[in-house]
Amino acid sequence: MAARVDQATDAQLLRQLIDGQLPDGRGRYGPFGGCYAPETLMPALRRLASASSDILDQASFQARLSTELADWVGRPTPLTPARGLGASWGAEVWLKREDLAHTGAHKINNALGQALLAQEMGARRVVAETGAGQHGVATAAACARVGIPCSVYMGEIDIERQSPNVDRMRRLGAEVIAVTGGDRTLRAAIDEAFRDWVSDPEGTYYLLGSAVGPHPYPFLVQRLQAVIGNEARAQLLHRSGALADAVFACVGGGSNAIGLFHPLLGDEQTLLFGIEAGGEGAGLGQHSATLAHGKPGVLHGSYSMLLQDVNGQVQETHSVSAGLDYPGVGPEHALLASIGRVHYDTATDEEALDALAECCLLEGILPALETAHAFAGARRWAASNPGKRILIGLSGRGDKDMPTLTKVRPGGQHATA
Ligand SMILES: *Cc1c(COP(=O)(O)O)cnc(C)c1O
Repeated sequence: MAARVDQATDAQLLRQLIDGQLPDGRGRYGPFGGCYAPETLMPALRRLASASSDILDQASFQARLSTELADWVGRPTPLTPARGLGASWGAEVWLKREDLAHTGAHKINNALGQALLAQEMGARRVVAETGAGQHGVATAAACARVGIPCSVYMGEIDIERQSPNVDRMRRLGAEVIAVTGGDRTLRAAIDEAFRDWVSDPEGTYYLLGSAVGPHPYPFLVQRLQAVIGNEARAQLLHRSGALADAVFACVGGGSNAIGLFHPLLGDEQTLLFGIEAGGEGAGLGQHSATLAHGKPGVLHGSYSMLLQDVNGQVQETHSVSAGLDYPGVGPEHALLASIGRVHYDTATDEEALDALAECCLLEGILPALETAHAFAGARRWAASNPGKRILIGLSGRGDKDMPTLTKVRPGGQHATA
């Protein structure tokens, strides 16, 4: 009896998501999401929520955004048949090439869209936070293009670890502000960027980098990243004459995955797989697999799944890829996991490194370490599901990961395929 009621509810929630009725008026995706922010920010978040639908829907805004996506970002990005991987896995494999977008990853789709929105809303400056620096670089580039000043908060430890990205941001005109308090990494940087925003919520626009945070950010980021799934769906139909049997994307905060998945939610025959960072194992602090090992809780303004200990303290995380190293995940993913529309799985550091090596050798493409997790998940699935059509979200290029690769796989081992 209970199972039947649950099933009906799940199907209804999925339908509402596909029909654009979620998030609801309170920013909720079923039980997840919402807006847990200081009272001082509520008016700014409400203004942003209406802008996220009103301004984004305006024909003039859409025209400017699509022109910039074509002229400056380089969209549409190609859909590449991966014949080498396909032969090796016994599958038909297609790659959606976000690594070929300007600045080398999908993050630019969101950064550009929000920078244009900030300008449209009359903001005088943009603030952002960055961990590994990829979102900071995309934001700095987008703000330079749009012509709006930008400050990027970055933990002191990350500044040291990611000095080339700090230099890139500064050359692109951004002010990089070192965060010396808290954990001196991404979490502290988010706190500081929020504090900055609270001091001037009217004149400052907070440009968030993934499908996380208080409403309306998860919705706004999904809308701006949906260009990935919309393009890929049309390209695959055109090239292959059919939809994918299975689609894979890596999940950190969840922006590239939701951008690819959201337009495919209604394709019932297509299985969707989000691959989280399994790190070095399932133990406390060894991974960043929020949906696999987390529990519901509030982090950075949103009720979603969260890696926490028994006292509700946020856990330490680990991943060989800095972009997946986050203890939370976007609320739409939490809902998609709970209703079973998307399957979430993990790939370990080693599996991701093997998959990266295989992609280099068989396709001549060096994917980001984040992206390599999606390849590892797809490779494992293909082994038990021969002859299927597989689409992989190639979220970014791996040039930025060379220092890590040189350290953990000196000389570049061959794939173990
Ligand atoms: C930042 C990043 C990710 C992880 O972020 P999501 O919001 O989960 O997409 C994945 N891939 C690449 C290449 C990235 O730079």
